[in-house]
Amino acid sequence: MSTLTIAHLRETLAEIHDLNAAMSVLEWDMEVMMPPKGAEARGEQLATLSALRHRLATSSELDRMLTALEARASELDSSEACLVAETRYDFLRATRLPESFVRRLSEAQSAGYNAWLTARAESDFPAFRPHLEKLVDLQREAAELYGYEGSPYNALLESYERGMRVEMLRPLFAQLGECQKNLVARITDQDMHQRFDWLGGTWPEDAQRRLSLRVLADMGYDLDAGRLDTAPHPFCTHFDIGDVRITSRYDAHDPFSALFTAMHEGGHALYDQGLDPEWRRTPLAEAPSLGIHECNSRMWENIIGRGRAFWTRYLPALREAFPGRLDNVTVQQIHEAVNRVEPSLIRVEADECTYNLHVIIRFELELQLIEGNLAVADIPDAWNALYKEYLGVDVPDDAHGCLQDVHWSHGMIGYFPTYALGNLYSAQMFEAALRDIPGLLDDVASGNLLTLREWLRQKIHRIGRRMTAPEIVKAATGKDPGAEPYLAYLESKFGELYAL
Ligand code: ZN
Repeated sequence: MSTLTIAHLRETLAEIHDLNAAMSVLEWDMEVMMPPKGAEARGEQLATLSALRHRLATSSELDRMLTALEARASELDSSEACLVAETRYDFLRATRLPESFVRRLSEAQSAGYNAWLTARAESDFPAFRPHLEKLVDLQREAAELYGYEGSPYNALLESYERGMRVEMLRPLFAQLGECQKNLVARITDQDMHQRFDWLGGTWPEDAQRRLSLRVLADMGYDLDAGRLDTAPHPFCTHFDIGDVRITSRYDAHDPFSALFTAMHEGGHALYDQGLDPEWRRTPLAEAPSLGIHECNSRMWENIIGRGRAFWTRYLPALREAFPGRLDNVTVQQIHEAVNRVEPSLIRVEADECTYNLHVIIRFELELQLIEGNLAVADIPDAWNALYKEYLGVDVPDDAHGCLQDVHWSHGMIGYFPTYALGNLYSAQMFEAALRDIPGLLDDVASGNLLTLREWLRQKIHRIGRRMTAPEIVKAATGKDPGAEPYLAYLESKFGELYAL
């Protein structure tokens, strides 16, 4: 009788990984290259692949392999033991969903996404409504299939931020909501009359793209293992450590938004390029949660990109990109311009002070949807009321309201909280990086962004799923994740900028 080994397990995991990667290629193509008439067939292709992947991930052969390896746990080293435990976790979760359900969900996701594209373009919520109703029903069904304690939302949250619970998010978000609303009120009460005339006019797309590529290269993003493309919804995807792609978008009236988008997605890409090559095609070369992934993107986009030290170095690069336009603009002016605080309608354009408020609104709505306290038809009214309450803004139409985000069209419910958690993790981790790396801000100010990347690689990227997100944060910072470092960061930065 042959003994089952880790090598056998890795063969099966590699097949599952490759199916995942193939689906990611198809999804990347769908958002970057595919002509509109390809949509229906692409939906079928993805549904077929996701059913195949599901079959492999729930096979009795995999179950037998895991049982055999679990019986020999004492012979495994710590990485191997972790691989077995993580694969068991994935197996148990996958087996909760029958293949027929996975196929139905995948088809509803593709149809939902395509309906949403048109509905958003035409600001036509009723056209999207039946799709969203179906997707919400499917997610409620998924929650029942997964099983949960407390709120059914917990079952969905688990897919994105393992171990996180509604019971933990409620007090955390209440604290963030209160403090950030208060901070925003103090800022917007002020009559700063800051002038940003120099931001007027148009900023050529090719120059924006070149600047983005330069900063990405300085961050250590390996372009021989990556690409920067254009897509309406910026994202990062990876098929392997050697192929990690990002997309960005360009606004001719804003010289900064493409750069910050590239730095954000670049932060994700550094994570995926920094995963442990020894364990490629296994769960050990994956991130343990979306929040910890977002920690990286937020740190690069906001703490670095919207920080003063960064602009000390990159104002000359900005001047080079747009010759003659910025000769009289100072680092201080740039710092003020990229940190303007203004309650607004669109999450992805929100400043750091208001961003989490957008997330909290979505969390409240999703919770009600999944707990059966809000009908899909009532989303626009509920959305608009919450925007008034949290941000004091009137939503003119659903395109600028509840149709703005892609997530629900993919049936992704439970995802949004990870953005706010990413913000919290980023400030807490950066505090630790400042302690660990002497002269870190001087490095940034001289364009040496690699010391931070290296620190992140050791503290986060290489770990993969050997630790959970809270364990990673605690190991690096000495404390459980919390809201205080982020709130202190906001107070310090914006207190100085707005002389509060
Ligand atoms: Zn992100």
